[in-house]
Amino acid sequence: MISYTPKTLQEIPACLGRMTEKDKIIGGGTDLIIRLNMGLSKPDALCYLGYVDELKRITAEEDRLVIGAYATMTGIENHPAVKEYFPALMDAASDVGSLQIRNNGTIGGNIGNASPAGDLLPVLYLYNAQVEIMGAEGNRVEPIEQIIAGPGRTTLAYNEAVTRIFLPRPAFVSSFVKLGFRRKVTISRIGIALGVQMDGDYVKDVRLVIGAISLKPVKLTAAEEFLRGKPLNESNIMEAARILSDLIMEITPREFDRDYKVFASRGIVMDAFKRLRRN
Ligand SMILES: Cc1cc2nc3c(=O)[nH]c(=O)nc-3n(C[C@H](O)[C@H](O)[C@H](O)COP(=O)(O)OP(=O)(O)OC[C@H]3O[C@@H](n4cnc5c(N)ncnc54)[C@H](O)[C@@H]3O)c2cc1C
Repeated sequence: MISYTPKTLQEIPACLGRMTEKDKIIGGGTDLIIRLNMGLSKPDALCYLGYVDELKRITAEEDRLVIGAYATMTGIENHPAVKEYFPALMDAASDVGSLQIRNNGTIGGNIGNASPAGDLLPVLYLYNAQVEIMGAEGNRVEPIEQIIAGPGRTTLAYNEAVTRIFLPRPAFVSSFVKLGFRRKVTISRIGIALGVQMDGDYVKDVRLVIGAISLKPVKLTAAEEFLRGKPLNESNIMEAARILSDLIMEITPREFDRDYKVFASRGIVMDAFKRLRRN
Protein backbone atom coordinates (compact mmCIF):
# COMPACT_ATOMS: atom_id res chain seq x y z
CA MET A 1 0.00 0.00 0.00
CA ILE A 2 1.26 3.50 -0.82
CA SER A 3 1.61 6.14 1.92
CA TYR A 4 1.40 9.87 1.29
CA THR A 5 3.05 11.74 4.15
CA PRO A 6 3.37 15.49 3.53
CA LYS A 7 5.61 17.31 6.00
CA THR A 8 4.35 20.86 5.44
CA LEU A 9 1.00 22.57 4.82
CA GLN A 10 2.19 23.49 1.32
CA GLU A 11 2.74 19.82 0.41
CA ILE A 12 -0.78 18.71 1.41
CA PRO A 13 -2.78 19.72 -1.73
CA ALA A 14 -0.44 17.78 -4.04
CA CYS A 15 -0.77 14.64 -1.86
CA LEU A 16 -4.55 14.96 -1.77
CA GLY A 17 -4.51 15.44 -5.54
CA ARG A 18 -2.94 11.97 -5.95
CA MET A 19 -5.71 10.18 -4.02
CA THR A 20 -8.34 8.08 -5.80
CA GLU A 21 -11.87 7.34 -4.56
CA LYS A 22 -10.65 4.11 -2.93
CA ASP A 23 -7.96 5.85 -0.86
CA LYS A 24 -8.27 7.09 2.70
CA ILE A 25 -7.06 9.88 4.95
CA ILE A 26 -5.75 8.28 8.14
CA GLY A 27 -5.65 10.00 11.54
CA GLY A 28 -4.62 8.01 14.63
CA GLY A 29 -6.01 4.88 12.97
CA THR A 30 -8.04 3.76 16.01
CA ASP A 31 -11.05 3.13 13.83
CA LEU A 32 -9.68 2.91 10.30
CA ILE A 33 -7.06 0.24 11.08
CA ILE A 34 -9.81 -2.02 12.42
CA ARG A 35 -11.79 -1.50 9.21
CA LEU A 36 -8.71 -2.27 7.10
CA ASN A 37 -8.00 -5.43 9.12
CA MET A 38 -11.62 -6.56 8.68
CA GLY A 39 -11.42 -5.95 4.92
CA LEU A 40 -14.23 -3.37 5.10
CA SER A 41 -12.05 -0.82 3.32
CA LYS A 42 -9.41 -1.66 0.70
CA PRO A 43 -7.52 1.51 -0.20
CA ASP A 44 -4.47 1.53 -2.49
CA ALA A 45 -3.03 4.50 -0.56
CA LEU A 46 -3.29 6.14 2.85
CA CYS A 47 -2.71 9.85 3.32
CA TYR A 48 -1.33 10.78 6.77
CA LEU A 49 -1.08 14.48 7.58
CA GLY A 50 0.18 14.08 11.16
CA TYR A 51 3.78 15.06 10.31
CA VAL A 52 2.56 18.60 9.62
CA ASP A 53 3.20 20.42 12.92
CA GLU A 54 0.36 22.95 12.50
CA LEU A 55 -2.17 20.11 12.35
CA LYS A 56 -1.18 18.75 15.76
CA ARG A 57 -1.21 22.10 17.54
CA ILE A 58 -3.88 23.58 19.80
CA THR A 59 -3.61 27.38 19.92
CA ALA A 60 -5.56 29.72 22.17
CA GLU A 61 -6.14 33.00 20.37
CA GLU A 62 -7.83 35.99 22.01
CA ASP A 63 -11.33 35.20 20.76
CA ARG A 64 -11.10 31.59 19.62
CA LEU A 65 -9.39 28.23 19.99
CA VAL A 66 -7.70 26.69 16.95
CA ILE A 67 -7.39 22.89 17.09
CA GLY A 68 -5.35 21.00 14.51
CA ALA A 69 -7.19 17.97 13.10
CA TYR A 70 -4.37 15.70 14.36
CA ALA A 71 -4.67 16.88 17.98
CA THR A 72 -5.37 13.77 20.06
CA MET A 73 -8.07 13.36 22.69
CA THR A 74 -5.34 13.36 25.36
CA GLY A 75 -3.85 16.59 24.01
CA ILE A 76 -7.29 18.24 23.94
CA GLU A 77 -8.29 17.01 27.39
CA ASN A 78 -5.10 18.40 28.97
CA HIS A 79 -4.85 21.73 27.18
CA PRO A 80 -5.14 24.67 29.65
CA ALA A 81 -7.39 26.78 27.36
CA VAL A 82 -9.73 23.81 26.77
CA LYS A 83 -9.94 23.29 30.54
CA GLU A 84 -10.60 26.96 31.16
CA TYR A 85 -13.04 27.95 28.41
CA PHE A 86 -14.33 24.73 26.83
CA PRO A 87 -15.00 22.31 29.72
CA ALA A 88 -17.64 20.40 27.70
CA LEU A 89 -14.93 19.61 25.13
CA MET A 90 -12.56 18.55 27.91
CA ASP A 91 -15.23 16.24 29.36
CA ALA A 92 -16.08 14.74 25.95
CA ALA A 93 -12.42 14.13 25.00
CA SER A 94 -11.71 12.52 28.38
CA ASP A 95 -14.75 10.21 27.91
CA VAL A 96 -13.56 8.74 24.59
CA GLY A 97 -12.61 5.05 24.82
CA SER A 98 -9.54 4.02 26.81
CA LEU A 99 -6.24 5.84 27.43
CA GLN A 100 -4.69 4.04 24.42
CA ILE A 101 -7.56 5.21 22.19
CA ARG A 102 -7.32 8.78 23.54
CA ASN A 103 -3.54 8.89 23.00
CA ASN A 104 -4.00 8.08 19.30
CA GLY A 105 -7.55 9.06 18.35
CA THR A 106 -7.79 12.53 16.83
CA ILE A 107 -10.48 15.17 16.58
CA GLY A 108 -10.22 14.99 12.77
CA GLY A 109 -10.90 11.23 12.95
CA ASN A 110 -13.87 11.77 15.25
CA ILE A 111 -15.36 14.12 12.65
CA GLY A 112 -14.34 11.80 9.77
CA ASN A 113 -16.08 8.87 11.48
CA ALA A 114 -19.34 10.86 11.77
CA SER A 115 -20.60 8.22 14.18
CA PRO A 116 -24.02 8.90 15.78
CA ALA A 117 -22.24 8.04 19.06
CA GLY A 118 -19.16 10.23 18.35
CA ASP A 119 -18.54 12.03 21.64
CA LEU A 120 -17.01 15.20 20.26
CA LEU A 121 -19.77 15.92 17.75
CA PRO A 122 -22.50 17.32 20.07
CA VAL A 123 -19.85 19.45 21.75
CA LEU A 124 -18.62 20.83 18.41
CA TYR A 125 -22.25 21.73 17.60
CA LEU A 126 -22.57 23.37 21.04
CA TYR A 127 -19.55 25.62 20.47
CA ASN A 128 -20.53 26.51 16.87
CA ALA A 129 -17.37 24.90 15.52
CA GLN A 130 -16.15 25.99 12.10
CA VAL A 131 -14.23 23.29 10.26
CA GLU A 132 -11.39 23.99 7.83
CA ILE A 133 -11.20 21.55 4.94
CA MET A 134 -8.25 21.28 2.61
CA GLY A 135 -8.54 19.77 -0.84
CA ALA A 136 -6.40 19.47 -3.94
CA GLU A 137 -8.03 22.64 -5.28
CA GLY A 138 -7.92 24.80 -2.12
CA ASN A 139 -9.43 25.40 1.34
CA ARG A 140 -12.91 26.10 2.64
CA VAL A 141 -14.37 26.65 6.12
CA GLU A 142 -17.84 25.35 7.01
CA PRO A 143 -19.94 24.95 10.17
CA ILE A 144 -19.76 21.44 11.66
CA GLU A 145 -23.50 20.94 10.96
CA GLN A 146 -22.76 21.09 7.24
CA ILE A 147 -19.96 18.52 7.49
CA ILE A 148 -21.86 15.72 9.24
CA ALA A 149 -24.22 14.19 6.67
CA GLY A 150 -25.41 11.06 8.51
CA PRO A 151 -24.10 7.91 10.20
CA GLY A 152 -20.55 7.37 8.91
CA ARG A 153 -21.02 10.01 6.21
CA THR A 154 -19.55 13.49 5.84
CA THR A 155 -19.88 16.01 3.02
CA LEU A 156 -16.12 15.79 2.35
CA ALA A 157 -14.94 14.52 -1.02
CA TYR A 158 -12.56 11.51 -1.02
CA ASN A 159 -9.61 13.84 -1.61
CA GLU A 160 -10.46 16.41 1.07
CA ALA A 161 -9.21 16.45 4.68
CA VAL A 162 -10.26 18.22 7.85
CA THR A 163 -7.22 20.32 8.76
CA ARG A 164 -8.27 22.65 11.59
CA ILE A 165 -11.26 23.34 13.82
CA PHE A 166 -12.07 26.86 15.06
CA LEU A 167 -14.08 27.34 18.25
CA PRO A 168 -15.21 30.89 19.08
CA ARG A 169 -14.71 31.59 22.80
CA PRO A 170 -18.17 31.13 24.34
CA ALA A 171 -20.00 33.57 26.61
CA PHE A 172 -21.68 30.60 28.33
CA VAL A 173 -20.62 28.01 30.91
CA SER A 174 -20.83 24.45 29.65
CA SER A 175 -20.80 20.74 30.39
CA PHE A 176 -20.93 17.37 28.66
CA VAL A 177 -22.40 14.24 30.17
CA LYS A 178 -22.38 10.83 28.56
CA LEU A 179 -24.44 7.84 29.47
CA GLY A 180 -22.98 4.53 28.33
CA PHE A 181 -23.36 0.81 28.94
CA ARG A 182 -20.71 1.06 31.64
CA ARG A 183 -18.67 3.81 33.29
CA LYS A 184 -15.52 3.66 31.11
CA VAL A 185 -14.54 2.56 27.55
CA THR A 186 -18.12 2.78 26.52
CA ILE A 187 -20.09 3.80 23.45
CA SER A 188 -22.48 6.67 24.13
CA ARG A 189 -26.18 5.87 24.52
CA ILE A 190 -26.94 9.53 25.15
CA GLY A 191 -24.50 12.44 25.16
CA ILE A 192 -25.66 15.86 26.34
CA ALA A 193 -23.70 19.02 25.53
CA LEU A 194 -25.07 21.97 27.49
CA GLY A 195 -24.25 25.68 27.51
CA VAL A 196 -25.95 28.25 29.76
CA GLN A 197 -25.55 32.01 30.06
CA MET A 198 -27.33 33.57 33.06
CA ASP A 199 -28.56 37.11 33.56
CA GLY A 200 -28.83 37.31 37.35
CA ASP A 201 -31.18 34.52 38.39
CA TYR A 202 -32.63 34.05 34.92
CA VAL A 203 -31.47 32.12 31.88
CA LYS A 204 -30.32 34.56 29.20
CA ASP A 205 -29.29 31.93 26.70
CA VAL A 206 -29.14 28.14 26.67
CA ARG A 207 -27.99 25.51 24.19
CA LEU A 208 -28.70 21.81 24.42
CA VAL A 209 -27.29 19.40 21.86
CA ILE A 210 -28.00 15.70 22.17
CA GLY A 211 -25.84 12.95 20.70
CA ALA A 212 -26.60 9.26 20.06
CA ILE A 213 -30.41 9.58 19.95
CA SER A 214 -30.55 10.00 16.19
CA LEU A 215 -28.42 9.69 13.07
CA LYS A 216 -26.54 12.91 13.90
CA PRO A 217 -26.54 15.37 16.83
CA VAL A 218 -29.89 17.03 17.53
CA LYS A 219 -30.42 20.55 18.88
CA LEU A 220 -33.11 20.52 21.55
CA THR A 221 -34.61 23.84 20.48
CA ALA A 222 -37.99 23.34 22.23
CA ALA A 223 -36.24 22.97 25.60
CA GLU A 224 -33.98 25.94 24.84
CA GLU A 225 -37.02 28.12 24.10
CA PHE A 226 -38.77 26.89 27.24
CA LEU A 227 -35.80 27.70 29.51
CA ARG A 228 -34.93 31.16 28.12
CA GLY A 229 -35.93 33.93 30.57
CA LYS A 230 -36.76 31.45 33.35
CA PRO A 231 -34.99 30.73 36.65
CA LEU A 232 -32.81 27.62 36.64
CA ASN A 233 -34.76 25.64 39.25
CA GLU A 234 -35.44 21.95 39.51
CA SER A 235 -38.93 22.06 38.02
CA ASN A 236 -37.78 23.97 34.92
CA ILE A 237 -34.86 21.59 34.43
CA MET A 238 -37.25 18.63 34.76
CA GLU A 239 -39.49 20.18 32.12
CA ALA A 240 -36.47 20.40 29.77
CA ALA A 241 -35.80 16.71 30.50
CA ARG A 242 -39.43 15.87 29.70
CA ILE A 243 -39.09 17.64 26.34
CA LEU A 244 -36.01 15.49 25.67
CA SER A 245 -37.75 12.24 26.61
CA ASP A 246 -40.72 13.15 24.34
CA LEU A 247 -38.32 13.85 21.48
CA ILE A 248 -36.50 10.54 22.02
CA MET A 249 -39.89 8.75 21.91
CA GLU A 250 -40.66 10.52 18.63
CA ILE A 251 -37.39 10.30 16.70
CA THR A 252 -35.19 7.56 18.14
CA PRO A 253 -35.28 4.19 16.38
CA ARG A 254 -36.26 1.39 18.78
CA GLU A 255 -32.96 -0.41 18.09
CA PHE A 256 -31.14 2.67 19.48
CA ASP A 257 -32.40 1.59 22.98
CA ARG A 258 -35.26 4.07 22.73
CA ASP A 259 -37.25 2.96 25.79
CA TYR A 260 -34.21 2.99 28.08
CA LYS A 261 -33.20 6.44 26.81
CA VAL A 262 -36.68 7.88 27.44
CA PHE A 263 -36.37 6.70 31.04
CA ALA A 264 -32.72 7.76 31.52
CA SER A 265 -32.98 11.22 29.97
CA ARG A 266 -34.27 12.84 33.17
CA GLY A 267 -31.23 11.88 35.24
CA ILE A 268 -28.73 12.77 32.57
CA VAL A 269 -30.24 16.24 31.92
CA MET A 270 -30.10 16.94 35.66
CA ASP A 271 -26.43 15.81 35.73
CA ALA A 272 -25.55 18.10 32.81
CA PHE A 273 -26.97 21.13 34.68
CA LYS A 274 -25.14 20.14 37.90
CA ARG A 275 -21.81 19.92 36.07
CA LEU A 276 -22.04 23.34 34.38
CA ARG A 277 -18.84 25.29 34.82
CA ARG A 278 -16.27 27.52 33.21
CA ASN A 279 -13.49 26.01 35.46
C1 LIG B 1 -12.16 0.42 21.60
C2 LIG B 1 -12.67 1.69 20.97
C3 LIG B 1 -13.37 2.59 21.75
C4 LIG B 1 -13.85 3.79 21.19
N1 LIG B 1 -14.54 4.63 21.99
C5 LIG B 1 -15.01 5.78 21.48
C6 LIG B 1 -15.75 6.68 22.32
O1 LIG B 1 -15.97 6.43 23.50
N2 LIG B 1 -16.20 7.83 21.75
C7 LIG B 1 -15.97 8.15 20.43
O2 LIG B 1 -16.39 9.22 19.99
N3 LIG B 1 -15.29 7.30 19.63
C8 LIG B 1 -14.80 6.14 20.10
N4 LIG B 1 -14.10 5.28 19.29
C9 LIG B 1 -13.93 5.61 17.86
C10 LIG B 1 -12.60 6.33 17.49
O3 LIG B 1 -11.56 5.92 18.34
C11 LIG B 1 -12.74 7.85 17.59
O4 LIG B 1 -13.80 8.28 16.76
C12 LIG B 1 -11.45 8.61 17.19
O5 LIG B 1 -11.62 9.99 17.40
C13 LIG B 1 -11.10 8.38 15.73
O6 LIG B 1 -9.93 9.14 15.46
P1 LIG B 1 -8.71 8.53 14.64
O7 LIG B 1 -7.72 9.64 14.48
O8 LIG B 1 -8.19 7.28 15.24
O9 LIG B 1 -9.42 8.23 13.26
P2 LIG B 1 -9.01 7.14 12.14
O10 LIG B 1 -9.34 5.77 12.62
O11 LIG B 1 -7.66 7.41 11.64
O12 LIG B 1 -10.07 7.57 11.00
C14 LIG B 1 -11.46 7.44 11.22
C15 LIG B 1 -12.19 7.97 9.97
O13 LIG B 1 -12.00 9.36 9.82
C16 LIG B 1 -11.33 9.67 8.59
N5 LIG B 1 -10.36 10.72 8.92
C17 LIG B 1 -9.35 10.68 9.83
N6 LIG B 1 -8.73 11.86 9.90
C18 LIG B 1 -9.33 12.67 9.00
C19 LIG B 1 -9.13 14.03 8.59
N7 LIG B 1 -8.17 14.79 9.13
N8 LIG B 1 -9.93 14.53 7.63
C20 LIG B 1 -10.92 13.78 7.07
N9 LIG B 1 -11.16 12.49 7.43
C21 LIG B 1 -10.38 11.96 8.38
C22 LIG B 1 -10.69 8.37 8.13
O14 LIG B 1 -10.54 8.31 6.73
C23 LIG B 1 -11.68 7.35 8.66
O15 LIG B 1 -12.77 7.24 7.78
C24 LIG B 1 -13.61 4.08 19.82
C25 LIG B 1 -12.87 3.17 19.04
C26 LIG B 1 -12.40 2.00 19.60
C27 LIG B 1 -11.62 1.06 18.73
